[in-house]
Amino acid sequence: MKKNKTGRENNISNSDLKQKPKSSKIENGVFIYNEVLTVGQLATKLNISASEIIKTYFLKGQMLTINSVLTDDMVGEICLEHNFDVQKEEIKDVDDIENLDFEDDPSQLIERAPVVTVMGHVDHGKTTLIDAIRNSNVVATEAGGISQAIGAYQKEYNGKKITIIDTPGHKAFAAMRARGASVTDIVILIVAADDSVMPQTIEAIDHAKAAGVPIIVAINKMDKPGANPEKVMTDLMSYEIIPEKYGGSNIFVEVSAKKGDGIEDLLENVLLQAEMLELKANPNRYAIGTVLEAKLDKGEGPKATLLIQNGTLKTGDYVVVGTTYGKVRRMNDDYNKILKEAGPSTPVSIIGLNDVPLAGDKFVALEDERTAKDIANKRRIKKELAERKSQVISTMDELFNKVSEGELTQVNIIVKADSTGSAEAIKASLENIKSEDVKINVIKSSAGAITESDILLANASNAIIYGFNVRPDAMIKQKAKEEKVEIRLSEIIYQLLEEVEDLVKGLKKAVITEEYRGQAEVRQLIKSSKIGTIAGCYVTDGVIPANSPIRLLREGKVVFKGNIAGLKRFKDDAKEVKQGFECGISIDGYNDIHENDIIEAYALVEK
Ligand code: GDP
Repeated sequence: MKKNKTGRENNISNSDLKQKPKSSKIENGVFIYNEVLTVGQLATKLNISASEIIKTYFLKGQMLTINSVLTDDMVGEICLEHNFDVQKEEIKDVDDIENLDFEDDPSQLIERAPVVTVMGHVDHGKTTLIDAIRNSNVVATEAGGISQAIGAYQKEYNGKKITIIDTPGHKAFAAMRARGASVTDIVILIVAADDSVMPQTIEAIDHAKAAGVPIIVAINKMDKPGANPEKVMTDLMSYEIIPEKYGGSNIFVEVSAKKGDGIEDLLENVLLQAEMLELKANPNRYAIGTVLEAKLDKGEGPKATLLIQNGTLKTGDYVVVGTTYGKVRRMNDDYNKILKEAGPSTPVSIIGLNDVPLAGDKFVALEDERTAKDIANKRRIKKELAERKSQVISTMDELFNKVSEGELTQVNIIVKADSTGSAEAIKASLENIKSEDVKINVIKSSAGAITESDILLANASNAIIYGFNVRPDAMIKQKAKEEKVEIRLSEIIYQLLEEVEDLVKGLKKAVITEEYRGQAEVRQLIKSSKIGTIAGCYVTDGVIPANSPIRLLREGKVVFKGNIAGLKRFKDDAKEVKQGFECGISIDGYNDIHENDIIEAYALVEK
C-alpha cells in the first residue's frame, strides 16, 4: 500500500495526504464524525431537539446555548443518551511530522546500533573518552579548551556498530545535552576516579533519568595515584545509581581514557546493554530522524548532520525538516566518505536543504518533492503564526515583569553564532547566569551572520547583540551605529559568558565613582555648645559645596569620612565656598577636628 517502486515504505501515504472533507453521518446506528460540532448542529444531525440537549446539561449544572461548541466527551454522552454508538474519525495532520510515525511491521524489523551519549562533569574526561573510542586525536584542535564541534560517529566493535554522539561536555552545553539525550539509547556517565561525583555529574544523571535512558558508569582516570573507584560507587548510590555487585542494575566499568585502558570492556558493556534494550528498526522505509547539528556552509549552502533513527535515507530522497525541505544532493559519513544510502542509527551529513534547520529538529524523508514542499510551507506558516502570537505574549510578559519586579533591570540579548549548536549552548549558558537584580533575557539566538533585521530587533527591544564566531560587515556596523545598537564579538564561549557576567555585576549597581571637588585647611577651632566643633577654614583648592561628602585628612591620612553638616561664610549659610575664601565648616557627627587638618570635599557620581 504505502510501498513505492524502490521497495521502501513511505512515511506519508497518499491517503494521509488526501484532505478528508469534514463530515458526520449515521451509519448502522453509529454516529461517525470528524468535525467540531455545536449543540444546534449535533441536534440536526441526530434529528433531536437542541433544547432537549440544553435542558439535559442545565440539569447537570452546565449552561449551554444552541451555538455552544461540544467537546468529544459531550458528543459521546449525547449520542449514547439517544441510543447511537459514536466514532470519531481521526484526521492525520501531515504537517505534524513530529507525530507522523507509524508502527513498523514486526517482520521488517532488524537490530540497530545503540546511540550513545557521553556525559559527565567538566574535565572528567568526556572528550578524551570519545576520542579514545574513536582512536583519533581531536582534543588538540579545540578552541578555548572546550569541545565545540558537535557531531557523531560510528564505531565498530566485535562486528557490531555503536553510534557515539560527540556531545560537548562543558556545563555551558546543557541544552545540547538535553537534546542529545532525546536521541540517545544509552548514556555513558563518566566520573573521574580522583574527583568523584560533582555538580555536572548530578545534572547528567538528571538528564539521563528524565529521558529514561540507562546509564553505564565509566570510572575514568584509573591510572591516577588518587583513583578511588569505591568512593565513586558509594557517592553515586545517593543518586540511585547502584552497581550490580551491590544489587543494583547499573554497569560500572573502570577505564583510563588517557591510556586507553578498559575501553574495550566499556564497548563490550555498551553492546551488552544494547542487547538488553532490543533496539530495532525497519530499514525498508523512508528515513526519519533528528538534526544533530546544522550550519550554513559558504560553498555548499545549508549543511546538516542528521541521525537516522528509523528507515533508510538515500541520495535523491526529499526531506522535510523543521520548516524547510530539500533534496539530499550529497550524503557523507563521519569520515567524510560519500554514501549512496544510510540505514538506522547512522549519523550522516547532508547538503541540499533550502535553509538551515535547527539542531533538534525532526526530519522525515519523502518520495516526492511536491509533498515535501507543501508540508514545509505549511509548517513555516504555522511557525510564523505561532511566533507572532508569542511576540505579543512576550511584550505582555515584559509588562508583567516590570510591574512585579519593580526596579529590576533586564538585559535583552540577541545571540548570533556560527552554528545552531553554539547558539543554543550560549543561550542556555546566558540564561544560567544567576543574579538577584538583573534578568538576562535572550530574545533570539540563531546561526548565521548578524543581519539588518537583527539590528532592528535589537533597537526595538533595547538588546545587545552577541556574535560568536561571526563578523558583521561594514554595512551592518554602520547600521548598528545609526541605530545605536551594541554589537559584541567573541570567539571563545567562556570569554563571552564572562563578559556578560561582568556586565550583570556592573548593572547590579551603577558604578559609583568619586569626583574630587576641593580642599580646605583648618586654621582655627570654635567650640559651640549647640553645633559642636566648628572649623574655621581656608579653601586652598577647588570648591567646598554645602552638604558635600568629605574626608578629614591628618598628616596625609584619612581620619574620618562623613558629610558636611554646616557651611557658613561669616554668619550666613553658604551653598559653596571657592578657593581663596574663608569659611566655617562643621562635620556631621564628628567633633575631634584638629588645627592643620585638611577637609577634602568630593562628590559621588553614578557612571
Ligand atoms: P572533559 O571536559 O570532560 O571533556 O574532559 P577532557 O577529556 O578534556 O579531560 C580533562 C583532562 O583530564 C585532560 O587534561 C585530560 O588529558 C585528562 N584526562 C582525561 N582522561 C584521563 C585519564 O584517564 N587519566 C588521566 N590521568 N587524565 C585524564
